[in-house]
Amino acid sequence: MPYAYDPLNIFARILRGEIPNKTVLETAHTLAFHDIGPHAPVHVLVIPKGAYVNFDHFAGEASSEELVDFHRSCAQIIAQLGISPGQGGAGYRTISNAGEDGHQEVPHYHMHILAGRPLGLMLSKA
Ligand code: 5GP
Repeated sequence: MPYAYDPLNIFARILRGEIPNKTVLETAHTLAFHDIGPHAPVHVLVIPKGAYVNFDHFAGEASSEELVDFHRSCAQIIAQLGISPGQGGAGYRTISNAGEDGHQEVPHYHMHILAGRPLGLMLSKA
């Protein structure tokens, strides 16, 4: 079954310039910006410019160029923010929610990068 992408979703509108964003990094295939409702002192969203609904869509169908660009952009942002534990930073968490059980609100693939305080356990077990 093909993935259904809604071109009216809020991140598609940000990509078209219809809604402003606080850009952290922009490349040929990737845009990163601050989350409007941060859950931590650092909360950056990284999105591909292509029309992908979630992680498995992007990982399965994006071109090698898009995949490399996206992940290198994440690494660059983490380095810029000084949060990499491999480079003296205190660490961070990446999260990608998908679908109903994943509690995804915006149906355009995005990676959350969270940092700036101890983030606690990964999930509650409830
Ligand atoms: P999800 O639940 O889909 O993984 O996360 C969606 C995220 O997008 C939320 O953390 C929410 O705060 C953020 N968000 C929703 N609308 C906007 C917006 O218009 N601008 C920005 N910068 N972030 C948004």
